[in-house]
Formats: sequence, structure tokens, C-alpha cells
Amino acid sequence: CILCGDHFGNMDDPWRHHLRVVYQDSGTVRVPGEGLWKPPDPIRVPTNPGAKWDTMGEDYIRLQRWPCWPRYMFELHEICWQRLMAHFDPEGVSPCDLYDALMKLPFPTNPSIYFGQDAPPYETTPLEQLLQSERQQPGCNPELQRMIARNCNVTDCFRCLPLEIIEAVGALLPTPDVLNTRLASRAWSVLFHNPTFWRTRFEINGERGFLDYLLMEDRRIDWRLLYHSTCRLRCGRSFDLTIRLWETRRWVRDAILSKPESPLMEFGGRALQHYHNTSWPGRYSRTVEIPPDLVGIGISACLERGSETADIKGLGSIRANGPSVLLGPKVPGARLMREDEPELRSLHRDGSTMACWDLEAMYRYPGIHVLLGARLLRGAFFHRELPGGVTAIQLLRSNDLSVSVGYGGCGREEGYYFNMDTVIELVVTFDVSGWPLFVGTLVYSNTNTLTAPSPQVGTSGRSRLWWRSDGRAPSTSLSVCLVQCRESDCDRC
Ligand SMILES: [Zn+2]
Ligand SMILES: [Zn+2]
Repeated sequence: CILCGDHFGNMDDPWRHHLRVVYQDSGTVRVPGEGLWKPPDPIRVPTNPGAKWDTMGEDYIRLQRWPCWPRYMFELHEICWQRLMAHFDPEGVSPCDLYDALMKLPFPTNPSIYFGQDAPPYETTPLEQLLQSERQQPGCNPELQRMIARNCNVTDCFRCLPLEIIEAVGALLPTPDVLNTRLASRAWSVLFHNPTFWRTRFEINGERGFLDYLLMEDRRIDWRLLYHSTCRLRCGRSFDLTIRLWETRRWVRDAILSKPESPLMEFGGRALQHYHNTSWPGRYSRTVEIPPDLVGIGISACLERGSETADIKGLGSIRANGPSVLLGPKVPGARLMREDEPELRSLHRDGSTMACWDLEAMYRYPGIHVLLGARLLRGAFFHRELPGGVTAIQLLRSNDLSVSVGYGGCGREEGYYFNMDTVIELVVTFDVSGWPLFVGTLVYSNTNTLTAPSPQVGTSGRSRLWWRSDGRAPSTSLSVCLVQCRESDCDRC
């Protein structure tokens, strides 16, 4: 399933059998009705989008499973499809736009590798569990309260607005912005005490939209307290899957809604933390804005005794004029290397044929700190060991690909790939020991840079990448296939 990454068809879980497909056929995008997955029968889906597999009669289309690339068809569980549609107005969404947005999504990792076979993609954690928090009831900051009381600005035009309009505008704004607005206008301070406003945080496209099932509950809920308590989540870690899927669906909506003004934006993966501003105990995220004078990114990696992987310890941005920003530690005593260092090049040029003992010697504690050029930064590849942190990073630049820093074992790994028009932020999630867990980049499409030729990634053999600069179609999806494809019968990866 392109959204949740889980497989189809398992006799124990009926939700795995019902599916929706979005596919392209001679230039037209089609979304037929709900189908039934019943191997070894071929997939049959109703021609009529409103029909279902049990009522379609003879009016159906027979679908073959296509290889992962080129991608013509996306399969979704019916339950995932229904959740996705809930993010849109009842008129729905144009199939073409939807297809284009789905093209930007990577192959998601099958969630069973984190949480076991039975982890359902949509959990409904009970309210009581979410309300366990070590935080106090939120109160208005006394200093702010005094300032608001004193601050009576006669030219404040917001004073003329009725509460309903203030509520309606507040519903569209992120919570930190609403809270800051109080500093400029006293009229906005009412929202802090307004239950309707806090309830909007839990609507499907609101900040805590992954908790929207609580809106159906027939009981009084203190929404402000719930918001406050869920800034740091206190429930089972498998709920992170529900959050991840919600982030992805909200991105699909944002991408489609922003489309008329700008080219379709690229998917930000787990860098989309600002959608909800929540975190898990023992995890924190750091964001660095990419400055215009960025010249390089330094990455520390080292192999510790007892470990099979050279983990990424930290990374930092290097500016031409101005202080560098370091995310995570730079291991003291690490050997400083430039990426044109022959050793680093020769070890990594052939991908899988690196000599193990040479690699180990280079990465053994305190490891290396590699300076990578980043003037033309477009994104990054990274690999993550499961469970565990980031084990390898490679920068993607408009003209080439940097060397890869770090290396993984041969256990369970997932790969991510971000190719942006312009990188504006680098978001790194760390665990409590300070090791990066996720790295992501964020972008807003910039039409000026779109005219630059897009490099293409090609394959030669099974594990080797090289770049061509003949600049035809952007290669995002192909590269995603190389890094992430889980199709067992794929001959492209
Ligand atoms: Zn699914
Ligand atoms: Zn593939």
C-alpha cells in the first residue's frame, strides 16, 4: 500500500483484502471502485467508482500487477483510501492531481518490521492514556497577562471583529502563531480561553488531526489540556505509525491544494514534524535553516566496539560568512577528511565491493568527520538501521552526488531519498543519547530553480549509482525505486 506500506491479503485481517487503485491508462488517470484482493484470482475492480466488488456484477476491470517502475498504478487499502479522502472536501479531489502527488511518495517501509505483523495502521489510543502527562494545567504566562491587561491599543482594528470571526481565523492558524498574536492585539487573547478554538486543533487537518477520532466521542473533553498533554506523547510507540500516516496524508492534501500556484512540492518525509509539534519522550528534533551562503555540511561518523554499523553521530552546516551550526556531537579526535580524499573515494566508488576491514579501520572510534560541499544542495539519501539511528548519508547536489558517509550492517534497514528544488530547512530527529534517528529536508518549490536541468540517476548492476547530466525528466521516482523498492520480483533494483 503506497500510504501505509503494509501488504494486502491476510486471512486474519479483513481490512487487508479491500483495496482501491489509482492508475494511469493511455494518459487518463482512473480511480475505480472498491475491489477485493483474493489471490490467486486476478484483481478485479468495478468500472464505476461508486460500485463495490460485491455489487459490480460483470462491470469490472481486470488489473495486472505491474512492476514497481515505471509506476502506473498505486494500490491502497480501502481503509487507507477512506482516511485519505477524509482530508478533502466532499467534492473530492481531481484524480490527476492525486496521481501526481502519489508519484512523489517513496515506497513506504512495511510497518511490520518495527511493530510486528499485527500492528494496525490506525490506532485509537484512549483519552486517559493521552492525558497522562507530567505537565501542569496550562496557564496564561503572568507577565503576558499583565502586558495584555495594560495594552489597550485604540487603533487595533481586530477589536471590531466579532468572536466568531476571530474563532474562524484562529482555526486556520498554527497554535504558536495564535498564541503570539496576543502580543500584538488584545482581541486575540480570548482564544486562549476558548474551547471551540482548542477543539479545532483536533480536526483532521488541524495540528493534532491524528487524534480526530476523539471528536466523535460523546463526552466532555478539555481540549486545551489534551493539546498540552499531547505535546509529548505518553502512549505505546506503535502509535507513531498512526502519526506517520497522518503526516503523509496531510502532505498529499497540502501538495494538491498548493498546486495551482506552484509546481507540485516534494515530499518531506519525517521532516514534517511541524505539522503536529509533538514528540516522544527521549526524542527531540532540531531544525537548521539553510542559509544562502551555505558552502558545506560536515558529517561525523564512527564505529564503536560491539557495533556492526558506522553510525552518523552529528552533522553541521558550514557557512561562508557566519557561524556554523552543529547538530549532534562532533566526536573529539575524529579524523578530518575532505570528500576528495582518495581513500574515501576509492572505498565508496564501487558501492558494495568495499573492503570490510578497510572500512572498519577508517571508521573505528573516534571515526571521521567529513566535509561535503553543499553549495548546490538539493537533498539527501540516508539509510537507517532498524531499530536504531542513521547509518549513512549522501548529499544530493544539482550537479552530482557526494560520497556516502557511514555504512550499515546487513540487517533491517530502511532508506529515504529527498530531492528538492530548493532546500530551505534541514530537520534532524535525535534520540536521547544524541544520535540522529531521521534526517529530512523541507522545501517550497521555487520556479527559478526548476529551469536548471535535473540530473538523472541510472543503474549499472545491482548496487551502483552514477549520474548523467542529460537533464531529461526529474528522476525522483526512479531513485526512490533504487533505494526503497521492496518488490521481490522487481528487475529494476
Ligand atoms: Zn494501507
Ligand atoms: Zn523496484
